[in-house]
Amino acid sequence: MHPTELIRVSRQLPLPGVGMDGQKKLKHAKVAIIGMGGLGCPAALYLAGAGIGSLGIFDHDKVEITNLHRQPLYSTAQVGMWKVDAAAFTLKEHYPDTTIIPYNLRFTLENKDLLDSYNLILDCTDNAETRYTINLASLATGKPLVYGAIAQFKGYLTILNHNNGPCLGCIFPKPAQVPSCSQAGILGVTTGHVGTLLATEALKLLLEMGRLMSGRLLVTDLLEGKFQELFTKKNPNCPYCSLNQIPQFISLSVREQDVKDWITSGKTVHLIDIRDHHEGFLDRIPGSIPIATNKLTDLSIIQAHLNSRDYTVLFCQFGNLSLSLATTLRDQGFKNVYSLEGGLQGWLKG
Ligand SMILES: [Zn+2]
Repeated sequence: MHPTELIRVSRQLPLPGVGMDGQKKLKHAKVAIIGMGGLGCPAALYLAGAGIGSLGIFDHDKVEITNLHRQPLYSTAQVGMWKVDAAAFTLKEHYPDTTIIPYNLRFTLENKDLLDSYNLILDCTDNAETRYTINLASLATGKPLVYGAIAQFKGYLTILNHNNGPCLGCIFPKPAQVPSCSQAGILGVTTGHVGTLLATEALKLLLEMGRLMSGRLLVTDLLEGKFQELFTKKNPNCPYCSLNQIPQFISLSVREQDVKDWITSGKTVHLIDIRDHHEGFLDRIPGSIPIATNKLTDLSIIQAHLNSRDYTVLFCQFGNLSLSLATTLRDQGFKNVYSLEGGLQGWLKG
């Protein structure tokens, strides 16, 4: 290691478990961060700051002005840039000794081999299908997965697929109906808090120190000032880690192009818009049927639009609520119900 690298991290060297040996481990480590939003930005900043040798950063979005209040890697001048390029620029400015490897792509199982050279994975995404996909990629590659999530003022943190510990499906067999940031609202401090927890667990894993959050789920409620620890365990009948299945709901998630192809090939497609009015019906998909989320306690309002001949695609702002509802409707026996991947945002970007 170059002397200036050691001076840069000299305040952490005296810590038990770090020292020169630990610092060398960090220098040789490669960490994959999937999702460079509110969780990925602080996690990347602190990992690079700690002297991680290489960070692989995955994202396929551009910087938007609405990202800036919780994504401290990006500046106003970078609005419109690809996030991975903007993040790589800022990280290199701050921490030139860390190698940044940008992956400007949507993470799918087809590119899971990209994870082969990494020591561990951080799930910093915000949609269910990608989260379960990353879980499968972690199981397939044998790389431990540090998992963080937020819901309004609450934060969640655990380590998955480590030392025969539980996977995401063992803890959450189905995607929870967690609304995304724009639907639920979010303070930058909440994502910052979970992002630094993600980085902390990554450092503990790499340095082999402390008590890891494997087998435990930390639930924090910043509004109440409460931190709660829940114990988790491997489910011997988990369809993903024990039976090697790909969750059905991943196949329920369809892209804008799939929908357009169905329409072009003559299929009848009903698009159902399940967003709240405050999300603005200024952005609409022409011909879609609006149903406000507060009407969804009774699913018969959606069921009335389903029939066995036609295709029905549910969409919300980002694709989380629609995926959860499509899964429930499939479980109830309704065929040809899908969720639009990435929601309306995905459609508009497509
Ligand atoms: Zn499992």
